[in-house]
Amino acid sequence: MNVLITGANRGIGLGFVHHYLEQGCHAWACYRSNPGALADLAPEHLHLLQWDVGLDQDPLGDLPEVIDLLINNAGIYGPGKDGQSLSNITADAMLDVFNVDCVGPLRVVQKLADRVITAKGTIANLSSKMGSSDDNSSGGTYAYRAAKAGLVIISKSMAMDLAPHGVHVITLHPGWVATDMTGNNGLINIETSVRGMCAVIATARNFSPGQFIAFDGKVVPY
Ligand code: NDP
Repeated sequence: MNVLITGANRGIGLGFVHHYLEQGCHAWACYRSNPGALADLAPEHLHLLQWDVGLDQDPLGDLPEVIDLLINNAGIYGPGKDGQSLSNITADAMLDVFNVDCVGPLRVVQKLADRVITAKGTIANLSSKMGSSDDNSSGGTYAYRAAKAGLVIISKSMAMDLAPHGVHVITLHPGWVATDMTGNNGLINIETSVRGMCAVIATARNFSPGQFIAFDGKVVPY
C-alpha cells in the first residue's frame, strides 16, 4: 500500500510514518523545509518529498503513480497565548493559518486526486474539534478554529466530488495529543492517537463520506 503524509517530519505526522512503515507500506513522507527525524529512518519503503503546503508549488521529489491513502496532516496553530483573542487577532494571522490549514489540504488534493482515484483510495484530512461549532464553549482562538472549521466543509465537498470516482474522504480529530503544537501538554500520546486514527482509516468506508471522526471512532458533531 502507498501512503502519502504531509507534515511528516515531527509530531503526529511522523507517528503516521512509523505506523505505516511497520505495516510494510511504502510511505511518501513530506516535510516543509527540514526532514528532521525522517533523515534517521531506514530508507527501505521510505520516500522523502519536500512540500510546503502553504505555497503553490509542486512537491520536490518523485511522487508515486498510485496513492492508496493520502493523509493531510500538516498544520499550524497560529499565534499562541492571547494572540488569537478577539482583541488581538489580526487579518494577517487569520489568513496565514487559513492558508496552511485549510487551503493547504485543498492544494494537495488538487495535485494528487488523480493518483488516489487510480487506487480508489482514501483521503484523511486532519481537522480538530476546535473547528467544531458544537464543541466551542470557550470562544477565542479565531484563526485556528476558523481554519479547521473550513477544512471540515472542504473535506465534505471533496468527499462528495470524489465518491463517484471510488475515493472515500474522511475528516479526523486526533484527540488532544502531546506534541510541539500543544506544548507537549496533550491528554494522549502520539502512539495512542495514531493507532486510533489508523483503525478509523482502515474502516473508513463504514463512515459516511466526509464524516468527522475522532481517534477513538466517535463521530464529532459540528
Ligand atoms: P506539530 O506542530 O507537532 O507538527 C506540525 C507539522 O506540520 C510539522 O511537521 C510541520 O513542519 C508541518 N507543517 C506546518 N506548516 C507546514 C507547511 N506550510 N507545509 C508543510 N508542512 C507544514 O503538530 P501536531 O503533530 O500536533 O498536529 C498535526 C495535525 O493534527 C495538525 O493539522 C493539527 O492541527 C492537528 N491537530 C493536532 C492536535 C493536537 O492535540 N496535537 C489536536 C487537533 C488537531 P515543520 O517542522 O517544518 O514546521
